Amino acid sequence: MTGDKGLILLIEDEPQMRRFLKVTLQSHGYILIETSTGQEGLTQATTRNPDVILLDLGLPDLDGLEVLGRLREWSHTPVIILSAREQEQDKIRALDAGANDYLTKPFSAGELLARIRVALRNKGLQAGLSEPVFVLDTLRVDLAKRRVFLKESEIHLTPIEYKLLAYLVKNAGKVIMHKQLMEEVWGPAYANQTHYVRIYMGMLRHKLEEDPSRPRFFINEPGVGYRLRFEVEETRKGNKTSPQ
Ligand code: CA
Repeated sequence: MTGDKGLILLIEDEPQMRRFLKVTLQSHGYILIETSTGQEGLTQATTRNPDVILLDLGLPDLDGLEVLGRLREWSHTPVIILSAREQEQDKIRALDAGANDYLTKPFSAGELLARIRVALRNKGLQAGLSEPVFVLDTLRVDLAKRRVFLKESEIHLTPIEYKLLAYLVKNAGKVIMHKQLMEEVWGPAYANQTHYVRIYMGMLRHKLEEDPSRPRFFINEPGVGYRLRFEVEETRKGNKTSPQ
């Protein structure tokens, strides 16, 4: 058993299908993590950092599309959907939700292996967010568990505050325009209600900044939008706690 070809997480509740995949993948040098529920799959995805995820849509606990949505909040790991559903609609929904590929059951071993090779090749080309925990100074955001810590204390955020923070974290270092934040966090219909952003940014600063009037994390770019600081090395390297 070599297993150096890659680590594959399988989220599939049918024992027969799991057996088929296990034999196929292991005989081709892949290491397989088997799970049979959405919850278990999500847990393994965060702790084992697989190279490819094979995801069944019909799971006993969560819908496969929901599992996919939760994964995509923090992970760019390629996901190949395995489903008995043949309708075009399901396929489109899964791809829209961030799936990389789609196999309709029954499929051949050769077809599956080819799709996995493509996914692994694409993964190599992506420099993605694979780290589900974002750390900036005293702020720690666990995107997989949706928890936020300041120093060691957990900070409670409302769902909108969290969504805003998570979007900034995923784009840390980039300036995000007010309008874009509105569209991403509140939805396209709110694109022009940019005063919401200011109000919620104020709340985030209040909860997460040491001195909300002199923010160190959530930087205002006047007339444009906001930027979450990303220069971790700035604090480590120089230790230049500027006198103010
Ligand atoms: Ca199933």
